[in-house]
Amino acid sequence: MMAQYLALKREAGDCLLFYRMGDFFELFFEDARIAAGVLDIALTSRGEHGGAPIPMCGVPVHSAEGYLARLIKAGCRVAIAEQTESPEEAKKRRGSKALVARDIVRFVTAGTLTEEALLEPRRANVLAAVCEVRGACGIAACDISTGRMELEECEPGQLAATLARLGASEVVCPEEWDGAPPGASGRPRHDFASEEGEARLESIHGVATLDGFGSFSRPMLAAAGGLVAYLDHAGRGTLPLLLPPIARASGSTLAMDEATRSSLEILESQQGGRAGSLLAAVDRCVTGAGARQLAEDLAAPLTGRPAIERRLALVQWFHADSLLRADLRGALRSLPDIGRALGRLVAGRGSPRDLGQLRDGLGEARRIRDALQAKRERPELLEELLPSLAGHGALTDLLARALVPAPPTERQKGGYIAEGYDHALDELRDVSGNARRAIAALEAKYRDETGIAALKIRHNGVLGYFIEVPSRHADALMASDSGFTHRQTMASAVRFNSLSLHEEASRIAEAGGHALAAEERHFEDLVAEVVARARDIAATAAALARIDVAAGQAERAAEGGWALPAIVPERCLEIVGGRHPVVEAALAKAGERFVANDCTLSPEDRLWLIGGPNMGGKSTFLRQNALIVLLAQAGCYVPAESARIGLVDRLFSRVGASDNLARGRSTFMVEMVETAAILAQASEDSFVILDEVGRGTSTYDGLALAWAVVEAVHERNRCRCLFATHYHELSRLAETCDSLSLHHVRAREWKGDLVLLHELAEGPADRSYGLAVAKLAGVPKEVVARAKAVLDRLEKGRAETGGLAAGLGDLPLFAAAAQLEEEQCDELRERLQALDVDALTPREALDLLYELKREADGT
Ligand code: ATP
Repeated sequence: MMAQYLALKREAGDCLLFYRMGDFFELFFEDARIAAGVLDIALTSRGEHGGAPIPMCGVPVHSAEGYLARLIKAGCRVAIAEQTESPEEAKKRRGSKALVARDIVRFVTAGTLTEEALLEPRRANVLAAVCEVRGACGIAACDISTGRMELEECEPGQLAATLARLGASEVVCPEEWDGAPPGASGRPRHDFASEEGEARLESIHGVATLDGFGSFSRPMLAAAGGLVAYLDHAGRGTLPLLLPPIARASGSTLAMDEATRSSLEILESQQGGRAGSLLAAVDRCVTGAGARQLAEDLAAPLTGRPAIERRLALVQWFHADSLLRADLRGALRSLPDIGRALGRLVAGRGSPRDLGQLRDGLGEARRIRDALQAKRERPELLEELLPSLAGHGALTDLLARALVPAPPTERQKGGYIAEGYDHALDELRDVSGNARRAIAALEAKYRDETGIAALKIRHNGVLGYFIEVPSRHADALMASDSGFTHRQTMASAVRFNSLSLHEEASRIAEAGGHALAAEERHFEDLVAEVVARARDIAATAAALARIDVAAGQAERAAEGGWALPAIVPERCLEIVGGRHPVVEAALAKAGERFVANDCTLSPEDRLWLIGGPNMGGKSTFLRQNALIVLLAQAGCYVPAESARIGLVDRLFSRVGASDNLARGRSTFMVEMVETAAILAQASEDSFVILDEVGRGTSTYDGLALAWAVVEAVHERNRCRCLFATHYHELSRLAETCDSLSLHHVRAREWKGDLVLLHELAEGPADRSYGLAVAKLAGVPKEVVARAKAVLDRLEKGRAETGGLAAGLGDLPLFAAAAQLEEEQCDELRERLQALDVDALTPREALDLLYELKREADGT
């Protein structure tokens, strides 16, 4: 057995091996230690290997799913080795001591799950394969629980941002690749071949060319090849549901890097988890599939005006009709997750219950279509979705006839095919029904004959049917001419068999076996019918999800008094009465009111410098505007009285000085790396929020950097930008930057206490109220008093020396630097023009090069 185990373990590689032994999956050696630790189950030992006891632990097969879920969550991957023959078969083939054959039937990894119990209903589970072909990265992403597959391409520098958007639970890439993303697992390089990838997709979808699905580049196809090869490996040759690939065009979605996503807390809060995220604050979907679609929409808002407006028009339609919305949401609420049921059936892991879900779900989809079709002035997107909701009549009829009303998740015991669907099956069931009645009659007859009222005919898994009497009556049945044969003596009862009982029991067993086999055949046939229509069923599921998202957003908007945003061609951002959906909800819970604020950016006034006290609401204001843009471009209503939004191509958020020590960077380094990315990438169409840039270093360095960054954003990037800062000195920038204006959040001191008004006003902040906030926070009185004394001293010093601000005001840093650069360039140009290259000896040329280099380095 150990030899067999070790061979399988070699095959399993770095996966934990679940080795099936009867009713348990056992783990041995290091696997057992890891699993016992993660699962908190007993670590025992068994036998010996190399003179030492073998560590072992096990989980019962019937509850394996729960344990698997915990292992996967902890980052483990698991190979399942099943018995591929029964002990009887093994004995027949290789004698009484034969070992049962086992084989790995599946690899269970975070990205290849389909089981309901292992998946979160409201969250997509994405597996991504990435690789690089001639300087471009290909990314293939799919959610095998629903079959959605997308291919895209990006520059290597954008790979991290792309993966952050996808939020993949597992990433694979070619082994030994320098560009491998952190946490990705390596697969054989030859899996990532574009020709093979293309051929695989063509054969999966039964087409001669993929052109009909879109146009796919070599890197995309290479990544697709890697993805399909990995799925093949994980499923041991059984491929899951894969829908035709969709090509995602670069630039079709609002670009956001990883830092922006995490600082805006779009799908998860920075503490981790959904609570406190934008998604949690806006999600009103009533189906899991809708919630998954909304998460995807928020992760990848659009950049095309027509597409955004189509989504908005659908939300608006539902917004306008609250009765329709309520009815629809009621119908959707009871809808099973047909996309995932389909995924399981195609992957060969489906159950009769999944078939039942399709029957109910597809039937409901049709009723929803009829209800929506009866309405007038349907928006364009709805017109496109409606046909997908119907067209499954033949399949639903078939399933309705074939299945019992509530089919079980287990197939082994049968009982899921409805009466009347198959006469032969009904007859087999009659036989066992009759035999069961015959057994009941037998019991009555034996009681009569023996006069033992306590005599019973019972059944268990080991003995089958038997006659049982209390021990004190056993003697009567023991007599050799009684017609009963002894089977087992228990503490208080004795069990017997009889010829008639044996006959009836055999009839039940035989008919039962045949019936089970018949049900099994029907199941396979029904699954085949479903698989044949997989693409259409998936389209129905997708259409329902889109409708749920739109109705849910309409509901959210109605609930919060949100506005339909206008998407306009100008580069503006005009938000009236904007609110932060997460902060507002949190305040509402505490019975407090959120103060709405306006934001009006335009090409002439595109950079706002925002000052004001700590805790005044600067960060909140910055983020709420970024979130409003994001929501609008995702096709949602926005928390504001009104909103006019010029399309944004990239969104950047740099909020606070956050540590990323896990990645080996200090707070300030992170801040600067992210600022550098913004300065390098933000375009005139971008929207940038910068919160306290420069805070992570000394005051002078920080102020100088903040100053230079504002100038650069204003002069070079020319994007719309909100910049929050505590440096009063920056107000001087308003004198030199003409598209910049000053704003502050208001506060008031009242009887020595600070009152934060959370209200945005024009003009520079008068002071920072840092000490007042410290007092508010409960810093001991003596400490605040001492700080006040120090502050007075500092301010006095500043007044005497003319002050930092005055000094900086005279030094337009950015302009000066640009002028210097310009002069140097002119000089260099003149020298080069004067040069006769042909007259130079190689030695002179080299000397000249050294000279220029020395000058450039300033040495
Ligand atoms: P700091 O300078 O210390 O980072 P800040 O000015 O960025 O502070 P925020 O973090 O945005 O302040 O807000 C602090 C708290 O004030 C929030 O957690 C929220 O409870 C409250 N708040 C912010 N904005 C508003 C608002 N518009 N209406 C009501 N309360 C608000």
